[in-house]
Amino acid sequence: MLAPKRLLTALALTLIGSTVVQAADEVVVYSSRIDELIKPVFDAYTQKTGVKVTFITDKEAPLMQRIKAEGANATADLLLTVDAGNLWQAEQMGILQPFTSKVIDANIPLQYRAASHAWTGLSLRARTLVYSTERVKPSDLSTYEALADKQWEGRLCLRTAKKVYNQSLTATLIETHGAAKTEEIIKGWVNNLATDVFSDDNAVMQAIAAGQCDVGIVNTYYYGRLHQAKPDLPVKLFWPNQADRGVHVNLSGIGLTAHAPHPEAAKALVEWMTTPEAQKIFADANQEFPANPAVKPSAEVQAWGQFIPDTLPVEVAGLRQAEAIRLMDRAGWN
Ligand code: FE
Repeated sequence: MLAPKRLLTALALTLIGSTVVQAADEVVVYSSRIDELIKPVFDAYTQKTGVKVTFITDKEAPLMQRIKAEGANATADLLLTVDAGNLWQAEQMGILQPFTSKVIDANIPLQYRAASHAWTGLSLRARTLVYSTERVKPSDLSTYEALADKQWEGRLCLRTAKKVYNQSLTATLIETHGAAKTEEIIKGWVNNLATDVFSDDNAVMQAIAAGQCDVGIVNTYYYGRLHQAKPDLPVKLFWPNQADRGVHVNLSGIGLTAHAPHPEAAKALVEWMTTPEAQKIFADANQEFPANPAVKPSAEVQAWGQFIPDTLPVEVAGLRQAEAIRLMDRAGWN
């Protein structure tokens, strides 16, 4: 047995040794994005740097609760999830740790990052209109707001208000129009519903294709996936509000956890994920727009055409989330 002093020294050396080795060699990511969307990016990073990236995938709520519960005994370095509304929630829970980086600042536009530096966007998706090419002319469409008009009575399909994507869209409407006008618009949408709300965006497009309704609101990558699987589907994307505030754009993003065990290695990974090399792999995997404007989207995404995006900082989705949920409830959006 070692004398107490030697034992302590041996322990200290082991601890220092293991800390150094881990910091250089491993990053742990909790991700609400599925394996096939993240693994190619992490594999490329490991190949390039030798740093091992371990990831656990689950829905965002349990991941965030787990990070909170682990507290100072954190196992996760990074939280990767979708929607500024979720990232904002994570920040409010105190599970993220802001850090500044010249690389990230140079690669990702300000409107797609937290002002506090608690998280940065990695890829973008528009939440836009879809329509039946059999029953709707693009010239019939104009804005999100106009879907509340009499013209669309019994013709609109929507996903549930419980989904954060719709909460974020509503939050940006409140930011633009104020609560009273937004409530009128949302009530108009609810009045125009052809059927009960759907549990996912894909079902909205399938309902349009099946003739159950004529217009809807979905995230672009769902359209991309469906369009690749069924190129002849009589459903198309439409970019609304091109004469005023632009299309609602949200993101997937990443933040450093408050007690990350490998903070330096984790920051280096996040920085790399904003570079053109990683952006291309990450955005293309899910038919998204790279958040780094220097990187071109995939051919499928480019084929959808150019559009003017809303210039509001996406953080608004979080700041007004609670208000949006109450308003949607009052307006009868289930
Ligand atoms: Fe989604």
